[in-house]
Amino acid sequence: MKKDNGVGARMIFVLGAALIFGYPLCPSHAYAGLENGELSPTSDSVRVEPATASSSPRMQIYMIDVGQGDSALVIFPDKRTMLIDAGDRWAGQSIINLLIRLGINTLDILVASHAHPDHTGGFYAVISGGYTTSSTKAYACEEGVWSKMKWRGVNPGDVIYSGGGATATCYAVNGHIIDGTYVEPERNKNARSIVLDIKFRGFDYLTGGDLTGSGGRPDVEDPLGDALVARGVYIDVYKVHHHGSRYSSNLCFLEEIMPEFAMISVGAGNGFGHPSKAVLNRLNDATVHVMRIFQTERGAGATAPNVTVADGQIVVSTDGASYSFANEGPKSAVFSYGPYPVDEYVGTWPMFGRN
Ligand SMILES: [Zn+2]
Repeated sequence: MKKDNGVGARMIFVLGAALIFGYPLCPSHAYAGLENGELSPTSDSVRVEPATASSSPRMQIYMIDVGQGDSALVIFPDKRTMLIDAGDRWAGQSIINLLIRLGINTLDILVASHAHPDHTGGFYAVISGGYTTSSTKAYACEEGVWSKMKWRGVNPGDVIYSGGGATATCYAVNGHIIDGTYVEPERNKNARSIVLDIKFRGFDYLTGGDLTGSGGRPDVEDPLGDALVARGVYIDVYKVHHHGSRYSSNLCFLEEIMPEFAMISVGAGNGFGHPSKAVLNRLNDATVHVMRIFQTERGAGATAPNVTVADGQIVVSTDGASYSFANEGPKSAVFSYGPYPVDEYVGTWPMFGRN
């Protein structure tokens, strides 16, 4: 989708809104202006062809429905696989069921974003189920041996996967940002989350566990956003930090990364009120205007008109030039959005040019 500049009018709006509503203002950046509208076409009850039917190489990201927690399976264009988080301990079987359905016998890479059970609990079942080999690489915030695996540390700037035109690059971990900035995690494990930019050609997916950035917690998001902007990385799909908690996804960060779509992994009836109204509002702020917010489950918090609840896994499929979303279940797809062209950032910050 093409996006207009409209910077002047938007700037006035944002500054006014900041004054009225007390939004934080990014200390070092002007604001990007994105036009409203162009809401995604919807087609309910459309049967989605399996992504593997396409002859051009594709990358798929499955946001697995693990209830309150996170788990995503990435199938790179060369068919290598990465499991990022594994939900809580009861989620292991859901992940295994998906692997069976997809005919995946081996996971090449595991990533534990941070040491909380709603992200790591399911690894035991997956590893016990024989889905790793001696060549599987496992990455975590800290080195160590647990869940039957030797986990290795990762540093900002590490490219933990490269193949078939796709890469997975670490942008932050343990409060260290790729540009050398350091934010003390203050004993908050969420702030230690591994942040990856998963890229295939022009498509960028940002996933960062439960990274913090709002509400007085250590703000790792702002310097992360700065670093992404400095490297010309603009995000097509943003996995919303911390299940839509109001303590994450601050407005400055969102306006820096300018995601087109957002995905929230959240559990029905969770005790945290996720996703929060504040985060949905920030995602839908006029200057950011996420096109659509996908959720694995309804959650226990707010909702918005552009929220689509999958009640199951959500699949993003891309050939690097465009991308689409589906609720690809074992029976049939119940929704399909896209394809959308990948937006490439072509200007120099803060010129906001995008084609
Ligand atoms: Zn979590």
